[in-house]
Amino acid sequence: MLNIYTNALSYRHDTGFGHPESARRIDAALDGVGRVGLRSLILADSALHPDTERMIARVHSADYEEELDEACQGGFQFFHSLDNPISPSSSAAARAAVGTSLSAADEIWRLGGSKRAFIIARPPGHHAERVEAMGFCFFNTIACVAEWLRELPGIERIFIFDFDVHHGNGTQHLFEERDDVFYASIHRYPFYPGSGAADQIGRGYGRGFTRNYPMEAGLGDAPYLRTVEDDLVRIIDDYRPQAILLSAGFDAHRRDRLGGMGVTEKAFGTITRRIVECAERHCEGRVLSLLEGGYDMEGLAASVAEHLNAMNGG
Ligand SMILES: [Zn+2]
Repeated sequence: MLNIYTNALSYRHDTGFGHPESARRIDAALDGVGRVGLRSLILADSALHPDTERMIARVHSADYEEELDEACQGGFQFFHSLDNPISPSSSAAARAAVGTSLSAADEIWRLGGSKRAFIIARPPGHHAERVEAMGFCFFNTIACVAEWLRELPGIERIFIFDFDVHHGNGTQHLFEERDDVFYASIHRYPFYPGSGAADQIGRGYGRGFTRNYPMEAGLGDAPYLRTVEDDLVRIIDDYRPQAILLSAGFDAHRRDRLGGMGVTEKAFGTITRRIVECAERHCEGRVLSLLEGGYDMEGLAASVAEHLNAMNGG
């Protein structure tokens, strides 16, 4: 019922010494998988979904993709910002994160082999804009999955919930003028990347289909849980999505020094349970969750364990 995926290329995006977004995060997340007695499927690079390239081209410009590939061929350097160091395999890793996620989505929504999936891949994606790499992100993976799902018959409304401690500026901007992909985010504010104020609610046809829950630093579990249970659940129930996608960042965890939000792993479990209940009401329990941030290894492992326990129906 729950499939967990990772890929070998996630280890080969080398961000250099001391960078918080390192390959150790994959091991920490896999540690979390083991703690709840689950196992992950390691997708071979050759098994990446055939629509990978087409979906990246849908979300990003050809010039941007080419620029990233060329920069990676040039070896270790920064791409667009000091937050985004790259190495020769970085664009391949970013592509593999998209391909792995599409394979997971295909299994759930087209083949029907599972109801839920968690994808452990890096680099993360929610800060990536159409033509700009930001905040450790290069390709906006969850946007690629949403675009792919929109091509399936019967999938007309997709709900993305982003609980990474940072606002997913890239995902919001990509969908803020559309009503077929609802983007909701709970995040520390004001904080990196600067977007995500409560009055950002979408534009044009998308007005009312973006929802931001800005939170002051260090508030801990209570306001997070209250927001999800009192407001987010109602919004999902009103929208009646045929697919629910999660930008699952665990950098709001209390051990995470980058996040500074003070949330416990138990709260991540509770939030996940509420989302799964929404999915049971509207989309046969189908949820795809994608690892975004999370930079304290123990906090990440513990949070992933609680998240997966809830995704698995526990
Ligand atoms: Zn983050």
